[in-house]
Amino acid sequence: MKGIKWALLGLMGLGIILLAWSFIPGVWHRLFTYPRYEKEVVELAKLRREPSSQIDLTTYQGAMHVHSYLSHDSRGTLVDLVSAAKKSGIDFIFLTDHPRGDIDTLPKGFRGFHDGILIEPGTEKQGFCAWPLGAAIIDWRLQKDSIAKQVVSHGGLLYYAHSEEPHHWNNPDFQGMEIYNFHTDTKDQSPFPILFDALVNGNKYRQWVLRQFFDSQTPIMQHWDELNSHRKIVGFAAIDAHENQNLRARYLPDGRIQWVGNNAKNIDTMEVKFWNKWLFSEPDQSGWVFKFLVDTYESGFKYITNYVMADTLSTASIGKNIKQGHLFIAFKSLGDAKGFQFYGLDKKGHVSAILGDSIRLDQVKSLYSVSPLPGRFKLIHNGKVIKMSQEKVYEFSANESLEKGNYRIEVELNLQGKFIPWIYTNPMVLF
Ligand SMILES: [Zn+2]
Repeated sequence: MKGIKWALLGLMGLGIILLAWSFIPGVWHRLFTYPRYEKEVVELAKLRREPSSQIDLTTYQGAMHVHSYLSHDSRGTLVDLVSAAKKSGIDFIFLTDHPRGDIDTLPKGFRGFHDGILIEPGTEKQGFCAWPLGAAIIDWRLQKDSIAKQVVSHGGLLYYAHSEEPHHWNNPDFQGMEIYNFHTDTKDQSPFPILFDALVNGNKYRQWVLRQFFDSQTPIMQHWDELNSHRKIVGFAAIDAHENQNLRARYLPDGRIQWVGNNAKNIDTMEVKFWNKWLFSEPDQSGWVFKFLVDTYESGFKYITNYVMADTLSTASIGKNIKQGHLFIAFKSLGDAKGFQFYGLDKKGHVSAILGDSIRLDQVKSLYSVSPLPGRFKLIHNGKVIKMSQEKVYEFSANESLEKGNYRIEVELNLQGKFIPWIYTNPMVLF
């Protein structure tokens, strides 16, 4: 008996040590790493120079691939979406709510301007994302390829979601693909160390906790370049925001408390008693009386942002310019990329094409790119880096004899003692 008792005590002790051990990295990050990262980003922002615009379009910022409570795995409300967009400088949200049944009727949910934020409803099912940009009925029992044709022939937007998964990549109806998806990025590592980090730093340094998931999506980028060698596929960023990696509680109409856990699943319902009452505060705008949040719309919208160059902030103009590829993506929590430009100049020095355009080779004499923050520019031709700025610069050009093919730019920021990816543009095609 004595032996068992000591073994149990030993196991308990080991458990306590392991638990304490799991929190050490988070405490270290809180005291040293994250304050340093935060300071670096603040210092970098002070170096901001507003480039004069050479492009006749306005840059709007958008969150694409976002879920609201209309999806089974989210509880996000209009208030949550709009307030997060305003806090993170987002102009438009393109929703992708999962259908609840076989028939999807669009527009569903929110549409148009809400407190200045443009919202467009869309749908996502099995790696297939669409914004019909108008009235549509999608019958998910049909073949995917015929759904694709239907969406595109009515002027809608259609793209491959979750590019790490198998798709019918040769279907010519698809106009774009995710070149970065936050959810995809989280799949290659264990979430547990990050969860412990979130328990320590979730409120104060949520952006840095989420950045722990970041890896360059090299195979996806290579695949994107490869696809673009024979067809146009616009690249954009999906935050895949659900605001659902959280523990929350709210009152039910009968006065009991309902607990909602990961993926917006109900986990328990309980009576409010004197012993648990202290946990609950006044309900917030969405009714929550208890919140432990790992991901939020705000953190997602700042994590990765789509910058679309368009005539006006309207569904028609944003949709048209997304299709065209007048779009670059940037990790906004590292620095706001508004003002960045990538274009081609003709012999007379006039802008003849911008990112996403296709243009005859003889109409582009040089390529030019400018950034509001100093970074390391990389010029990529048909998937290969052909030129790189030596150090941190604001401007970058390529005057060498240009060839046919796709040219795109990546910009890296010098943070955390190394260059880390910040901006990815869509390619300009010279033919
Ligand atoms: Zn999704």
